[in-house]
Amino acid sequence: MLSVQEAESIILSLVQPLDEQLDTEVVELSAATGRILAAPVTSQLDFPHWDNSAMDGYAVRYADVQSCDASQPAVLEIIEEIPAGYQPQREVQSGQASRILTGACMPQGADTVVMQENTQREENRVLIFEAPEPQAFVRKKAAFYQAGMPLLPPGVTIGAPEIAVLAAAQCTQLTVYRLPKVVIFSTGNELVTPEQPLQPGQIVDSNQYALAAFVLQAGGVAISLGIVPDQPEALRAKITQAISSADIVLSTGGVSVGDYDYVDQILTDLGAQTHIHSVAVKPGKPLTVATFPSLDQENQRGTKPPVLYFGLPGNPVSALVSCWRFVKPALNKLSGLPPTSCKPTFVQAYTRHELRASGKRETYLWGQLQVVDGSYEFHLAGGSHSSGNLINLAQTTGLAVVPVGQTSIPAGELVQVLQISY
Ligand code: AMP
Ligand code: MG
Repeated sequence: MLSVQEAESIILSLVQPLDEQLDTEVVELSAATGRILAAPVTSQLDFPHWDNSAMDGYAVRYADVQSCDASQPAVLEIIEEIPAGYQPQREVQSGQASRILTGACMPQGADTVVMQENTQREENRVLIFEAPEPQAFVRKKAAFYQAGMPLLPPGVTIGAPEIAVLAAAQCTQLTVYRLPKVVIFSTGNELVTPEQPLQPGQIVDSNQYALAAFVLQAGGVAISLGIVPDQPEALRAKITQAISSADIVLSTGGVSVGDYDYVDQILTDLGAQTHIHSVAVKPGKPLTVATFPSLDQENQRGTKPPVLYFGLPGNPVSALVSCWRFVKPALNKLSGLPPTSCKPTFVQAYTRHELRASGKRETYLWGQLQVVDGSYEFHLAGGSHSSGNLINLAQTTGLAVVPVGQTSIPAGELVQVLQISY
């Protein structure tokens, strides 16, 4: 059986990122939040756009004020008032100053701003009591960014700070990667939708909904294909439908060793190459990872990247843990994120409770990751950690890892915790 690390490497090696030419679209700035840049962004504007004042005060010539002090103030004639947004009309000559406000354009002739606090106004004159540094409080044009230089590189995820930068630079049309298409379906004769009345023995198909939510949060488009009974012909038809439009397929159930577990055999029959059958992880041991060679070989890329198929365990806890541990990195890489941002984030946390495992497989225990007095703490979810207990999975923000060979980690010890974040 593969270790978790081996499985992760195999999965990442199977993923081909979206193509930076073919798999892109142009979006407006207002619709760009959460998207990933597919091309470098360059602005035609300097930042700041022009020399401007960092203070409320007076724009002066440094030579006029360089040797003043409280006993011998410089006295300058005020020739103009320059609020933000106003274009200065007059050049500051020797012996003159312009009143200037924060963010306003520097006038011709002036090279320095004296802050208001070091001055005294007397009608149309200003007295300056302290010599400033040369060029004090002047934000020079292009000091922070020069037009034509790279502003943001490809692979950046657009969030609030990037939106601020792009708006200020007037970059309103952005080339981003298209969203990856993730097709989801559930297998099982026992499954019904959350709306259907339950007959004895039936189980609600929570996976379809949980996985769609996971995909949405992970930045993909979820395409749900419903429930398929454990019948080879129906499964074969559904898998064929799924791979025709997906970048990634997520099916749940039917990958174990039970009498009704047909998925692996059908994948092989349909020409898939299976790379993983099971992983030494708990929960989530039965995990099938397969690739389908592209159906249409004739597109512009020569060969389309293969469709990546995850046959996840049916158990809802196992299915979600597998998504967090194995599907998310694949989706990240496919989406165009840089390799350094693809793998899950593990943090060191002090566990508040003893963590127990069998020692045979790498074990992931769910709970809450909290920051207490500046350190991470892991709070194990209360109740049973049987993979059949779905209910205490709610509000999970971290998965504590008990390595192979360890059967207990005492309360108060440091543990590795996979941080669940989007
Ligand atoms: P399987 O992997 O198909 O053997 O399923 C393992 C367990 O998970 C069984 O108890 C199933 O009833 C349950 N299960 C399978 N699929 C789903 C699903 N889509 N939603 C909720 N539970 C499921
Ligand atoms: Mg089943």
